[in-house]
Amino acid sequence: EVRDRLAKLTETRNYPMFVAEKAAKYLIDDVWGNMGDSVAAKERLVILGAGWGAAAVLKGIDTNRYDVTVISPRNYFLFTPMLAGSAVGTVNVRSITQPIRDFNANANYLEAAAKEINPEKQIIKCTGLTVQDNSEIDEFEVPYDRLIVSVGARVNTFGIKGVEEYCSYLKQVDHARKIRRKIVSLFERANLPGTPEEEIEKLLSFAIIGAGPTGVEFAGELRDYVEEEGPKYYPHLLKHVRIKLIEATPVVLRPFDKTLQDAAVEALTIKPSGNSAHLFSEEIAELVVNKKVMEVSQDFIKLEDGRDIPYGLAVWAGGIGPLEITLDLIARIGGRQVINQNVARGKLAVDPWHRVIDAKGKIFAIGDCAANQGGPLPATAQVAAQQGEFLAHILNVGNHTIGFENGVQLPPKKVLGQTQLADSIAALSTGEDEYLAPFQYLDLGVLAYTGRFSALAQLQMAPTEAGRVKAKGKVGFGLWRSIYLIKQTSLRNQMLVFLDWCKARMFGRDITLID
Ligand code: FAD
Repeated sequence: EVRDRLAKLTETRNYPMFVAEKAAKYLIDDVWGNMGDSVAAKERLVILGAGWGAAAVLKGIDTNRYDVTVISPRNYFLFTPMLAGSAVGTVNVRSITQPIRDFNANANYLEAAAKEINPEKQIIKCTGLTVQDNSEIDEFEVPYDRLIVSVGARVNTFGIKGVEEYCSYLKQVDHARKIRRKIVSLFERANLPGTPEEEIEKLLSFAIIGAGPTGVEFAGELRDYVEEEGPKYYPHLLKHVRIKLIEATPVVLRPFDKTLQDAAVEALTIKPSGNSAHLFSEEIAELVVNKKVMEVSQDFIKLEDGRDIPYGLAVWAGGIGPLEITLDLIARIGGRQVINQNVARGKLAVDPWHRVIDAKGKIFAIGDCAANQGGPLPATAQVAAQQGEFLAHILNVGNHTIGFENGVQLPPKKVLGQTQLADSIAALSTGEDEYLAPFQYLDLGVLAYTGRFSALAQLQMAPTEAGRVKAKGKVGFGLWRSIYLIKQTSLRNQMLVFLDWCKARMFGRDITLID
C-alpha cells in the first residue's frame, strides 16, 4: 500500500521509481517497524502518589520506554521537612511545593485517589475530584502493566480517644495552613476584652504530642513565632503563653545520637532572654517525657499520671500508620503479604528490588508504605527518594536485570556485592544476564531545627561511627539551612525559600488571617 501510494507520488512529482522504492522500504522497515516495536514495547507504568518516592521515580524514568501516568489526589510535591516552618509562617507553603508535572513533562497526571487495586486484572479503580470542594466525584479505572505504589502513610492516632476529633495534624499543606490560622485566632481571641485570665491561659496553651523530629521542629518554630512576633503584637499576653512538648517514651528525637538528644532537650527548654525577656514567664516551653497521652477532650489532654493539661491548640505528631489502600492491597495479594505482617506492620512487604512480594513482578512499592525484607528502614524522605531513584534505574535498564520470566519473578541469579547506592546504580550497566545488585540505603544523616537559630545536624560522611559528624547550635543551624536550601527541588523553590527567610527576618511573619 505504501509502495502504491509512493508510485503515485513519483508520477505527480516526477521522482524516479528507485527513490520511491527506497523510501517505501525505509517507511516499512525502519519507520513503521520501529514505531510498531516501540508502541508495542511501551509499557503502561502507573505511579500512585506525588511525594518523595514518586517524584524521584519521575525524575529518573525513561518515558521512551514507559507510558507513565501519575495518580495522586494532590497535584504537587511537598517538601515535608519544612512543613513545621510553614505552620507558623516562617516560609510560605507555596515556596515548599512544586507541581508534580514539573518533574517529568512527558508523564500524564490524574488528580484522583486510588481506591482499589486489582492485581489479577491489573486495574486501579480511582475517584477523581472534579471540583475543588470535592462535591462532584467521578469514578474511573486505569489499567497498568507495572504499578509503583508510593502512597505514603496516614497519621496514626493509635486509637487514643479524642485525638482525631480535637487534635491538629502536621502532615499536609492544609494541616499547616489550619495550624497557622488557629495560632493567630487564639491570640486574637485571648486579646478580646473581658476574657477571664483562666481562659486566656487555656487559649494560649499549646500542646505538641510526640517529640520526634516533627514535634521538636514545630515546638522550636512555634517558640520562635511567640518570641519574635509576640512582643510586637501581643506584649501583654506573652506571660500566659505555654508550649508543652509531650512524649510517651523517655527519648526525644529518637533518630539522633544521645549527645544531640541532650542538646535538643537543652535547646527546647531554654529560658527567654534578650530585651523582651521580661514579657514572658520563665517557663515558656516545657518538655514532658515518659508520659503517655490517655485521652484528649475538648478542653484537656489527659496524661497517664492523671494530669490534665488544658490547651488552646493540640498538635498530634505521634507517628504514622497504613492507609486503607495499602491494607486493601495486602489483603488482595494475600499469601506472604499477610504472613509477613508481623514484621511489615501494615506496609507492603517488598524484596530488596522493591518488588511487592507475591505480586508477580507487576507491582513495586517504595517509601513509607513499603517494608523492605532486607531489613527495616526509617520512614523518611531520604529513604523514599533513594528508593525511587533506584527503582527508576531498574525499570529503565529492563526487567531481565531483576530476574523476570514471563512476568514471574525469579530469585536473583547473581547478587553484585553489598555495595552502596551509587555502586548498585553503576552496576546496572553490567551484562544482560546478570541480575542487579539489591537496593542499599545510604544513610546521609539527620537534621532538626530546635528554635532560636539553632539546629542539630548529624551527618554521616562514612558508614562508621568515626564517619559521623555532629553539630549543634549556630553551626548546626548553618548546616540545616544550607542543606535544606540546596535540597529544594527547583531553583524557583530555592529562591522563594531564601526570600521567605529574609522576609521573616526583616519584616516578621504574617499574622493576617488571609489564606
Ligand atoms: P509521601 O511523600 O507522603 O507521598 C505520598 C503521596 O501519595 C502523596 O502525594 C499523597 O497525596 C499520595 N496518596 C495518598 N493516598 C493516595 C491514594 N489513595 N492514591 C493515590 N495517591 C495517594 N523525612 C526526612 O527524611 N527528613 C525530614 O526532615 C522529615 N521531616 C518531616 C516533617 C514532617 C512534618 C513530615 C510529615 C514528614 C517528614 N519526613 C522527613 C518524612 C517524610 O516526609 C516521609 O518519610 C516521606 O514523605 C515519604 O515519602 P513517600 O513518597 O513514601 O510518601
